[in-house]
Amino acid sequence: MNDVIIIGGSFAGLAAALQLGRARRKVTVLDTGLPRNRFAAHSHGLLGHDHKPPLDILAEARQQLTRYPTIRLVSARAESVSGSIDDFSVLTGDGQSLGARRLILSYGVVDKMLDVPGFADSWGTSIVPCPYCDGFEVAGQHWGLVWSGPQSHQSVRLFHDWTDTLTLFADGHNIPPDIRADLARRNIPVVEGRIVEIGHHKGHITTINLDTGPNVAVDILFAHPRNKPSASLHESLGLSTVDTPLGIVLKVDERRQTSMPGIYAAGDLTTPFLPSVTLASSQGAMAGIFAQQSMLV
Ligand SMILES: Cc1cc2nc3c(=O)[nH]c(=O)nc-3n(C[C@H](O)[C@H](O)[C@H](O)COP(=O)(O)OP(=O)(O)OC[C@H]3O[C@@H](n4cnc5c(N)ncnc54)[C@H](O)[C@@H]3O)c2cc1C
Repeated sequence: MNDVIIIGGSFAGLAAALQLGRARRKVTVLDTGLPRNRFAAHSHGLLGHDHKPPLDILAEARQQLTRYPTIRLVSARAESVSGSIDDFSVLTGDGQSLGARRLILSYGVVDKMLDVPGFADSWGTSIVPCPYCDGFEVAGQHWGLVWSGPQSHQSVRLFHDWTDTLTLFADGHNIPPDIRADLARRNIPVVEGRIVEIGHHKGHITTINLDTGPNVAVDILFAHPRNKPSASLHESLGLSTVDTPLGIVLKVDERRQTSMPGIYAAGDLTTPFLPSVTLASSQGAMAGIFAQQSMLV
């Protein structure tokens, strides 16, 4: 029997495993190898790893975990989960049944792309979600922002620290009059019409093409597509969730425990806004530590 099974072995899950391995707890990490930022050439903002390919950071982390004899890293999908505290059971896609006293859910989220040609091809290269991740490299250039709700107004205020040239794409949404007035005051043009295509060359945007025309050239486009958890294990367990404008996240307490005793969660699966590798790693470390401390005799 494992002390802990970690479902999702990326930034949050591996950080949890590191703490548990150092506490000499028996841990199995299940992972399908699809971290959210795999589309990006470089990851930014993680101290000591700035401007490195995200998959290299994860490969180095996995390599470092081989020091710890109680950690087992397994390439497999967790298909189902059952049981309760001290006696959880996880069934994997390749038919293994594993037992554990505690679970950590860190299986992240999937971004739902805008369903127009060129969007998915450019995601992570010139269509990105977060200025802290990718803003510095394109500071001062012409930025576009796809309106996704009132939270986009906060993005407008935020982006001012990186560029004075911003165009907002309404993409068929109604932007409230008070926000329109503020945009006008800030000299930010609003382009009406629906986005029908992203013109690009190998993922580098050339134009945003609209059903109303004409096409608009930008250097980078920020977009916040709604996301959804990468797996539905929390649903079958009946865990409490919070619905946010960008998607559903799991509800956790200050010790990162979900609504079910013995199940902890960390990373993007629990982070409504501004997800980051740094945050996921710190939450993962906390989940590992609190799961370990919950098993002290
Ligand atoms: C385009 C883009 C660029 C970004 N750039 C940056 C950046 O520069 N800096 C930064 O700090 N953040 C960046 N982010 C955010 C960053 O990617 C996330 O915050 C981070 O990946 C969250 O880590 P996580 O461990 O919670 O989830 P993830 O990294 O998404 O990992 C979840 C893991 O769980 C696995 N998994 C899913 N389901 C199962 C299952 N059923 N069984 C087993 N395993 C499963 C997946 O394969 C994956 O490996 C970016 C995000 C995007 C979309």
